Amino acid sequence: MVVDVSDILKEIGASKNVNCSIVLKDITWQGEPLQFRKPLTITGSLTNSGSILLLNANVRGTVIFQCGLCLEAYEQNLEFPIEARLKKPSQKNNVDDFVYEGNEFDLSKIVWEFLLLEIPTRRCCQENCKGLCPECGANRNKKTCHCINIEENDPDLALDERLQILKDHFSTRGKEV
Ligand SMILES: [Zn+2]
Ligand SMILES: [Zn+2]
Repeated sequence: MVVDVSDILKEIGASKNVNCSIVLKDITWQGEPLQFRKPLTITGSLTNSGSILLLNANVRGTVIFQCGLCLEAYEQNLEFPIEARLKKPSQKNNVDDFVYEGNEFDLSKIVWEFLLLEIPTRRCCQENCKGLCPECGANRNKKTCHCINIEENDPDLALDERLQILKDHFSTRGKEV
């Protein structure tokens, strides 16, 4: 999505609205798919503040993540602000700066940079996602399988139970004395 800045470059203080929708390409992020079924909505403004162009905008839309536990795709709403400083390539002296070349810049590139910061590290379809059965691979949100799972057969728990019986045994004896 290319934005033309020629109309505000001539005059310091000039500003224009940036209202558009952009379609981002699906990518693989941290080994998982990141998909966009609908365009994202961008609303904001671009101001010529002399040495730089200032982009202030709000991004809204939905993204399709993959649940890290059950591997199902799920949709999540996104809304975040963008504050970007744009300079000519020859003026760029900060890693956080973006560039405009000639009379234009690529808005998608800026949206991507900010969007990736919004992605949670733990992506989960629901708070109580039960994940996949480690034995048969069934999605435990959708069906109950009859595998005996390691968690339910926890050897540590069994040990604790045995210790508890011993403790009870000795405390009972203690009372008898
Ligand atoms: Zn899940
Ligand atoms: Zn199972």
